Amino acid sequence: MTDTNIGQVSVLGAGNMGHGITEVAAIAGYDVTMRDVEEDLVADGYEDIKWSLEKLAEKDHLDESVDEVLGRIDTAVELEPAVADADLVIEAAPERMDLKKDIFGDLDAFAPDDALLASNTSSLSITEMATATSRPEDVVGMHFFNPPVKMNLVEVIYGEETSDETAEAAYEFVESLDKTPIYVRKDVHGFVVNTVLGPFIDEPAWMVSNEEATIREADAAMVHRRGYPMGPFELVDLSGIDVGYHVRTEAGRPIPPIMKEKVEADELGRKTGRGYYDYENGDGVDYEPSDGENFDTLRVEARMVNEAARLVGDDVATPEEIDTGVRLGLGFPEGICRRGDEIGLDVVLDKLRSLHEKTEQDRFEPDDYLVELVEQGRTGEDAGSGFHDYGSDGDAGPGEYRLLNYELSENGLLEVELDRPERMNALSMSLLGEIDALLSSVNSDDVRCVTFEGAGDRAFSAGADIGGFADLTPTDAMDVTPAFETVNDFERPTIAKIDGYCLGAGLELALACDLRVATANAKFGSPEIGLGLIPGGGGTQRLLRVLGETRAKELVFRGNRIDAERAEEWGLINRAVPAKEFDDTVSDFVDDIVEGPPIGLKVAKKVLNQGADASLEAALTMESQGFGLLMGTEDVREGTTAFRDDRDPEFRGE
Ligand code: NAD
Repeated sequence: MTDTNIGQVSVLGAGNMGHGITEVAAIAGYDVTMRDVEEDLVADGYEDIKWSLEKLAEKDHLDESVDEVLGRIDTAVELEPAVADADLVIEAAPERMDLKKDIFGDLDAFAPDDALLASNTSSLSITEMATATSRPEDVVGMHFFNPPVKMNLVEVIYGEETSDETAEAAYEFVESLDKTPIYVRKDVHGFVVNTVLGPFIDEPAWMVSNEEATIREADAAMVHRRGYPMGPFELVDLSGIDVGYHVRTEAGRPIPPIMKEKVEADELGRKTGRGYYDYENGDGVDYEPSDGENFDTLRVEARMVNEAARLVGDDVATPEEIDTGVRLGLGFPEGICRRGDEIGLDVVLDKLRSLHEKTEQDRFEPDDYLVELVEQGRTGEDAGSGFHDYGSDGDAGPGEYRLLNYELSENGLLEVELDRPERMNALSMSLLGEIDALLSSVNSDDVRCVTFEGAGDRAFSAGADIGGFADLTPTDAMDVTPAFETVNDFERPTIAKIDGYCLGAGLELALACDLRVATANAKFGSPEIGLGLIPGGGGTQRLLRVLGETRAKELVFRGNRIDAERAEEWGLINRAVPAKEFDDTVSDFVDDIVEGPPIGLKVAKKVLNQGADASLEAALTMESQGFGLLMGTEDVREGTTAFRDDRDPEFRGE
């Protein structure tokens, strides 16, 4: 927990969101009072928290016992005592402006003068809520996503009167929960994330209503060709067709006929057994990848990019914030500004203009900021800048990456983090390309050891991003990516730090590393056979070499998962350790390697890797050549001298 000047938090509402927010605040170390209007509602919320904490403890995701966390949670039914000592109040009551205004009026009367007053509303105006108080500068939006315990994103929303001090305190509070905040600088309807989501949902609905596409075409195309985690209709069936319908009605936005028909027929999605798909008498979501071949995905993405341009142009959010928002809040494969830059903003603008001309519908009217970017020649990645800048200074260094983070320390440790936690660090073509580019461009003389890990606490990498591969032709797929070989052949020792899922392509990346250290709750497997595929990226062959035929075939043929204990017993990983010992164990490995002789380790890696595939005779020749080569190095002189002098050697790689 960082120092936020907040000690006591009150959450109003013990429903879906209220209990989840209470739970994450208590986990982060805050004392929390959770209030609802009736005793049994509070009790239900408390039980939900207990259940969820027990699940987290089972998975070893809690640093304390369930009772210690629960010990920080109080419940209440009376409002006044529930907020009397609060430094921060988060309102999570039903989404009705009259109710929210009543609550904020009460808070004005009962909460301490210096308390922050936040609302978790997903669509209502913070400015309007704040008018119910005499201190609108202290009122802020704090939009958590459902479920708060899993979702990493929180939008911090300015009302018209919100002070910077209030918004900054809210932002820091979110960070102290180990979540990612983004600022929404004006409380526009939908804030950032739902503003971008709007066209993803309603453009396909217009297209289906106008008989320009079918539901299955839209879903299949957006998932399999464009890599979105769910199709628009599939997604709305899950969240409830009525939910978006009401938000659109309240905002006074035109509603696609098909959406209206579904609501009128009370076919609201999974919850009623039928929505866009039939879950009771049909097969539920049943589109096939090939269904999406002819769907016009650009029409949908162009509208999302246009919304993003409006948010940037109106100073609601920066492209970085928008991209973080849609990746973490919606699980989009990449930021929408980034995607616009990739498509080309000129292409996006042309598409909008031609649709606008053809249909005369306002929703296609290009935003001024988009037009401005294109007029300035900032048309995206190919032009060197668009929403984002793509440094084209010709620097030979490893540069900036979107999907991975890296840090090269003075001691030569290169730490690489796969940064797609919202997709369990699934390996997309772009991410693999970045891994390849980083290891190919870094100066290996500066590196002594590389570690790979996954961002977030759920996965090292849960597999390949299948959506991203669906557009590949069979011949492209034959040589999918050199990334695995680049990792395998990198001159320095590499270590996979595995916490959580390590499946499919994730396991292939771990196998391309020299060493693998995992937490006890890690899970391993090659599920490709379930898709009718086989492990790629060298997976079949490296499994064979690491495990031997018997066990490799078991993993590949059965496609099921094994736990860390079995993986260690089989020799798939070097160590499986409890989560608490994970970092120290990896550090022990790293320390030995970065202090080791760089040339000796390089030769050892080469001889071991290449020797495994050679005849014994050839391998022994390689070994003796390596031996001879090392004998002439400074490092060997230093090693033998240090041994004789009984001191630690200082290898310099010479
Ligand atoms: P919910 O219906 O599950 O819970 C709301 C709770 O608030 C109920 O238990 C209700 O009894 C209680 N309540 C009513 N009046 C109250 C009062 N005066 N003081 C304290 N509690 C009161 O609703 P939810 O899904 O948790 O949504 C709550 C808020 O969070 C809404 O503003 C919603 O828009 C927003 N939100 C919801 C989601 C989501 O996916 N459910 C996501 C983000 C934000």
